[in-house]
Amino acid sequence: MCLGPFKRICHWGPLTALAIIKIITLMTIHCSRQWWPPHESYSATINFLLFSSLSASTLYHFITAIYEGPGYLPSGWKPNNLNDTKYLQYCKVCEGYKAPRSHHCRKCERCVLKMDHHCPWINNCVGHYNHGFFTAFLASAVGGCCVSTFILVSWLMTVISGRNVTFAPPSVFTLFLVVFTIGLSIGVVLAVGMLLYFQMSAILRNTTGPEDWILEKAKNRRLGTNDTFIHPYSKGWLFNLKQVLKWNCIPEGDGIVWPIREGCDQYTLTVEQTYQKLEKRKRTRVFLILSPVSGSWVPITYGWRVVCHPPCTDEPRIKLNINDVVVVTRWRKYWLFGEKQEEDGDPKKRIRGWFPRSSAIEVVENGRYHESNSKDN
Ligand SMILES: [Zn+2]
Ligand SMILES: [Zn+2]
Repeated sequence: MCLGPFKRICHWGPLTALAIIKIITLMTIHCSRQWWPPHESYSATINFLLFSSLSASTLYHFITAIYEGPGYLPSGWKPNNLNDTKYLQYCKVCEGYKAPRSHHCRKCERCVLKMDHHCPWINNCVGHYNHGFFTAFLASAVGGCCVSTFILVSWLMTVISGRNVTFAPPSVFTLFLVVFTIGLSIGVVLAVGMLLYFQMSAILRNTTGPEDWILEKAKNRRLGTNDTFIHPYSKGWLFNLKQVLKWNCIPEGDGIVWPIREGCDQYTLTVEQTYQKLEKRKRTRVFLILSPVSGSWVPITYGWRVVCHPPCTDEPRIKLNINDVVVVTRWRKYWLFGEKQEEDGDPKKRIRGWFPRSSAIEVVENGRYHESNSKDN
């Protein structure tokens, strides 16, 4: 088990992130020592220390977010009061109930406490126990890359202008590396900065990725009625912030029982989720596969319209054979999303994903087919 975090790191996401941290740190330290040697003045020392500590903080919080992990719900989990199971969803894979705010992650193959999202860069979920570390990682990376961009650009300007150059002229290779690192650094500021912005806004509202969806649907379900859905976990921005961000990054609570707003209870959100699932089930349609589907992201045999209108998501594309039956829950003009029906299928190996719409025909009632299978929605 102690190999777990090590295995997590040996994956393209964390290895790429570590390589980016390393390149930016080494290049910035190199340029900083040449352009503004830290031993020459207090301000140079402060600048150097500021960058070094942001870089160290990025690495520390990155590793800790992987090492701590999001926290998993024990397999076969049940609420203390068995009467409460009626308010909860059941996870067939973990063979247990999902605690409030827990969701099953198909990549981690576990139910994750207060799941936010599965992050490929840490090759782990962001959830209850690593939410603070992850956010601190994003903030340190953005801060560090702002300082690094300033140092690298100043170094480059000095070299290009040729004035006040107090160090040996750099080789073409070093010059190339510095320009490349400036690109990386600005890229991190923009991309990670955006992620940090969304993450902070979610923390201040005390929601997570999946909960944003649930809240959005809860609002839509009540459009045109006097009823409004109150998010049970949001108790004011300062309270919400303190739930996740503290100096030691260790969150409040056990990830199962949550502080709740007045007028709500532990199960307000899970009950809403159950209603949403029931409504979704009413909207499902059954499709029969008429021509084989390879599972390719670019199914050329289905024509350019299908290829040029892919669903904008990284959800899987599935392989299907003639006569397979698929229960479809979402549809686009050229693609369908559904789950392949299998007799006594293993819940761990549910086949769910997108496939070209023209490969299938809708089954309306037992055995009868819909005339047109390209009706839009
Ligand atoms: Zn699960
Ligand atoms: Zn995950």
